[in-house]
Amino acid sequence: MKVVDNLKNIEEKINKACEISGRDRDEIKLIAVTKYVSIERAKEALEAGICDLGENRDEGLLNKYEVLKDEPNWHYIGSMQTRKVKNVIDKISYIHSLDRISLAEEIQKRANEPINCLVQVNVSGEESKHGIDPEEALDFINGLSTLDKVNVAGLMTMAPLTDDEQLLRRCFRKLKGLQVEIQKAGLRHAPCTELSMGMSNDFTIAIEEGATMIRIGTALVGEEL
Ligand SMILES: *Cc1c(COP(=O)(O)O)cnc(C)c1O
Repeated sequence: MKVVDNLKNIEEKINKACEISGRDRDEIKLIAVTKYVSIERAKEALEAGICDLGENRDEGLLNKYEVLKDEPNWHYIGSMQTRKVKNVIDKISYIHSLDRISLAEEIQKRANEPINCLVQVNVSGEESKHGIDPEEALDFINGLSTLDKVNVAGLMTMAPLTDDEQLLRRCFRKLKGLQVEIQKAGLRHAPCTELSMGMSNDFTIAIEEGATMIRIGTALVGEEL
C-alpha cells in the first residue's frame, strides 16, 4: 500500500474519533514511526504530507537524518541510553521516553536549547514496559525543576498489546488523569500539555481519551524493509 492511501484511511479514523469525542483535528499530531522502514519509505511519508517522524534507535534516526535533515520534526520514541544522548539531542523536537533522572541530567549537560521531553509512564504496570510508576510521576517531575534544558512538555505511555478496549481505555484515562494532576501543580518547568499515546492498534481509543500525539508505524508506513 502507498503511504498516501494508508494516510487517507487513518485520517478518516482520526476524524471519526474526533467527532465522537468532540475534539478538533488540529489538537492531534500524527507521528509516522519509520523505525521498520527504509529512507525511501520515510520520504514517501513526507511527500504524503506528514511532518513528524519517529525513530526508536539512534542509528535509525541518524541514518535518516543524514538524508532528510530538518525537513521533518524528529521524535525520539525509544528508550534512550544515556551515552547516546549527545548523538541525537540537537536533532530532535521531542524525546518521548524520559524515564530516569540520570537521563534528564545527561540531557541537561548536552543540550544547547531546552528540549521538549515527555515523561514515559508505565500505566499498565507490565514488567516488560519502561517508564515511571504513575504514583511516582509527580515526585519525579518535581525533581527536574533545576534542569533548565528539560522542559516537561507532557507524558507518554505504551498501552498493552491487546484488543481489550476497556483495558486500553483505563490505561489512557490514567495517563490523562495524571496530566491533570501535574497541570494543577502549576510547575513552570512542566506545562505538560502533550499526551503521547496511541499506536496502530489503539489510536482511535487514545484520541477519544485525550491523546495529542499518536505514534503510528505499521498501519501507516508498514513494517517491511
Ligand atoms: C514501534 C513503536 C510505535 C509504533 O507501533 P505500531 O504498532 O507499528 O504503530 C509507537 N510507539 C513506540 C514507542 C514504538 O516503539
